[in-house]
Amino acid sequence: MTITVDREAELLASVPTGLLINGQWRQASGGKTLDVHDPATGKVLASIADGTSEDALAALDAASAAQADWARTAPRLRAEILRKAFELITARTEDFALLMTLEMGKPLAEARGEVSYGAEFLRWYSEEAVRDYGRYLTSPEGKNKILVQHKPVGPCLLITPWNFPLAMATRKVGPAVAAGCTMVLKPAKLTPLTAQLFAQIMQEAGLPDGVLNVVSSSIASSISGPLLKDSRLRKISFTGSTAVGKQLMAAATENVLRTSMELGGNAPFIVFGDADMDDAVDGAMAAKMRNMGEACTAANRFLVHTSVAEEFTAKLAGRIGALTVGRGTEAGTDVGPMIEDKARTGIHALVTQAVAAGATVLTGGSAVDGDGYFYQPTVLGNVPNDAAILQQEIFGPVAPVTTFTDEDDAIRIANSTEYGLAAYLYTKDFSRLLRVSEQLEFGMVGFNAGVISNAAAPFGGVKHSGLGREGGSEGIAEYTTTQYIGIADPYKGR
Ligand code: NAD
Repeated sequence: MTITVDREAELLASVPTGLLINGQWRQASGGKTLDVHDPATGKVLASIADGTSEDALAALDAASAAQADWARTAPRLRAEILRKAFELITARTEDFALLMTLEMGKPLAEARGEVSYGAEFLRWYSEEAVRDYGRYLTSPEGKNKILVQHKPVGPCLLITPWNFPLAMATRKVGPAVAAGCTMVLKPAKLTPLTAQLFAQIMQEAGLPDGVLNVVSSSIASSISGPLLKDSRLRKISFTGSTAVGKQLMAAATENVLRTSMELGGNAPFIVFGDADMDDAVDGAMAAKMRNMGEACTAANRFLVHTSVAEEFTAKLAGRIGALTVGRGTEAGTDVGPMIEDKARTGIHALVTQAVAAGATVLTGGSAVDGDGYFYQPTVLGNVPNDAAILQQEIFGPVAPVTTFTDEDDAIRIANSTEYGLAAYLYTKDFSRLLRVSEQLEFGMVGFNAGVISNAAAPFGGVKHSGLGREGGSEGIAEYTTTQYIGIADPYKGR
């Protein structure tokens, strides 16, 4: 069913437009606002407060003042707030999905998937909040005792990207709440509305004032800059591009901050000769086309064994060529717009370069005329291994296919990138899976699976794809510090 204009307007009018500081929604100190656009039409959807450095510091004041009491709350209470937030978001699935479709462009069915995935981080960390175990043991010498406990790391700065407006926020806020940390959240300026609604839900779920503060801004560094210089901040968790992540890591050295970095990717999707071809094509569709290819885990390079390259490429081109491009709110849309015109121009430049280097366009290959930032779903065959499109994150609906001759060749090509986030393997041979996975320099491997994100699994990369893990029991450890208490021999003198 296509969504009506009235329904869109009603939802947009219900989203808070202020900055959330110490439990109050307020205007930006300079009184300015920033416009949020619909990438399917280019039109303004809403205007929200445009935070300044002064607002960022006010948010840190609130987070810092709330930290000690929040750290002492019962884990059970924190768990119940998260559980309640999970239920409230789930009950409002249609609102969150529509809001994400409007500000980010993804088709409604995918947005609903993100609501379920994003809310799951709240449920998972409600369950983890009461299970953050320390340990107590006798030292190897047999006398002294060792007590190890976890404490919240302290006030955190959380910076999120535009591509998964809900899940990238809940993946940080969930474990931070569970661990007893307070936060300043800075969403991407292109998609801040979902985070605004999410923060309102956290208030409704009973989160005390000052624990979660939200400051959007048209100038990201005006928020991160002063906070990274302030010794009250104890951690930065960032999801976004490698280039910005490196700048933030450098700035985080000043106060020796804990850092979690979820950065860019360049995922190889490796299809071995023994793979089930239909399964591999299904997986390729998910790994490439989910979120219009605007995902850090998106398959960026299809490496296909020469014996099956023709069959795989033809089937993939058939499926991708049959997708319907359109506004995400329209029934039947498979592929929404790119986030910005700038992004679309960059994608097309990579396609043009690849074609100039000898690649063939099997389907798509150009922008869609008219309103919005649409790009045709594209498959490129015979892409030379040194083409820029295989070295950089495409972040769009373009599938470049190249070939390999044997297992060692596949591993070498797959690892020949500075990134190391996700890799995908299609084979029926389990020994090969283990052998190849061990040699792949990637934080995550999908085995006959095109989507691997899960709240219960440790998500993250190696090399220039980042540091730390989100999700799983690893995710909460990112928000705690370890304190060791050395206890003298309790039997001394007895
Ligand atoms: P981006 O780096 O441009 O922006 C990410 C966030 O950082 C936004 O909130 C932005 O406002 C902020 N930012 C930008 N410049 C900043 C600065 N100088 N100081 C402080 N903050 C700044 O990335 P993007 O375009 O929003 O997102 C796409 C990128 O994110 C891709 O590279 C993608 O691979 C990556 N990503 C990674 C993961 C992961 O889990 N590894 C998940 C999603 C996206």
